[in-house]
Amino acid sequence: MTDRYAVIGNPIGFSKSPLIHGTFAQATGQDIDYTAIEGPLGGFAGAADAFRAAGGLGLNITAPFKLDAFAYATERSERAQLAGAANAMKFDGERVLAENFDGVGLVRDVTHNLNQPLKGKRVLLLGAGGAARGALLPFLAQEPAGLVIAHRSVDKALELARIGAGHGAVRGCAYTDLVGQRFDVVFNATSASLRAELPPVPASVFAHCALAYELAYGKGLTPFLRLAQNAGVQQLADGVGMLAEQAAEAFAWWRGVRPDTRAVIDKLTVPLV
Ligand code: NDP
Repeated sequence: MTDRYAVIGNPIGFSKSPLIHGTFAQATGQDIDYTAIEGPLGGFAGAADAFRAAGGLGLNITAPFKLDAFAYATERSERAQLAGAANAMKFDGERVLAENFDGVGLVRDVTHNLNQPLKGKRVLLLGAGGAARGALLPFLAQEPAGLVIAHRSVDKALELARIGAGHGAVRGCAYTDLVGQRFDVVFNATSASLRAELPPVPASVFAHCALAYELAYGKGLTPFLRLAQNAGVQQLADGVGMLAEQAAEAFAWWRGVRPDTRAVIDKLTVPLV
C-alpha cells in the first residue's frame, strides 16, 4: 500500500514540498503519496487528526501551524524544543513525534552545498523568529568562533543568546551595536525580504564577509543580498538549498533513505539578479 505524507499550511498553494518529495520518492524508489493540505486557521489539530485517521504517516508543517504542531506532538526532539516549533511530524500509533529540520537543513546547505564551513568563523544572524531559533543549536554545533544575533528589539536577541549560551560562544545585540564589527558569514533570518524590505544592518558588517545568505528563497536579489553584493561579498545565496535540505532530512527520518538534493535545488533555483 502507498504510504501517505503531506504538507499542511494556510495558504498552501505556493508550497514546493509536493514537488520536492515527489522528486525524492522517484529518485529513491519509495512508494509514497505526498499531497498539500490547506488547514483551516485555528483548526490544525482537527486537520491532523483527520489525516492520521486516513492512514497518514507524516506531515511537514509550514506557516502558520509550526507552533500548533509543536503543541500537538506527544514527543519533541531537542531541536524542536529549542525552536518551540515543529516543521515535521511522524505518526506511530498514538505517538506523535515532532522535529525541526530548518536549522540542520540550513547548516547542511552552507557547509556541504556552498562549501563554507562555519567552524572557527565569525557568524552574524539577523532576526530572532522561528527560523533563527531553529538555526541556533545547529549553528553552535559547528563551533563558530562566535555567533552574534541581532534583532530590532534587543531583548529578543538577548533572550535567544541566553538560550544558546550553554552550547557555544553566542551573544545578542541591537543593530546599532553592529557598526564596526566584522563577520565571515552573515545570515538574514528576518522576514524583511518577503516585503522587499531591508533589515537595518550596517554595510560595514560585510567588510570581510565570504558569504551572505538570505533564508528567503525565490526572491532573486533581495535588498539584503544587494547590500552585500555592493559591499563586495563574493558569494551570495538564498534559502533554496535550505528548503531542499530540510526536506531531505524529513524524508530520511520517515523513509530511512536520504535523497540527493541537487536535482531539486537546480529545479527550484531562481537567479540572484
Ligand atoms: P518569523 O515571522 O518567525 O520571524 C521573522 C523575524 O524577522 C522576526 O525576528 C522579526 O522581528 C524580523 N523582521 C521582520 N521584518 C523585519 C524588518 N523589516 N527588519 C528587521 N527585522 C524584521 O519568520 P521565520 O523565522 O519563519 O522566517 C524568517 C525568514 O526565513 C523568512 O524570509 C522565511 O521565508 C525564511 N525561511 C526559509 C526557510 C527555507 O527553507 N529556506 C524555512 C523557514 C523560513 P519582530 O519579532 O520584531 O517582528
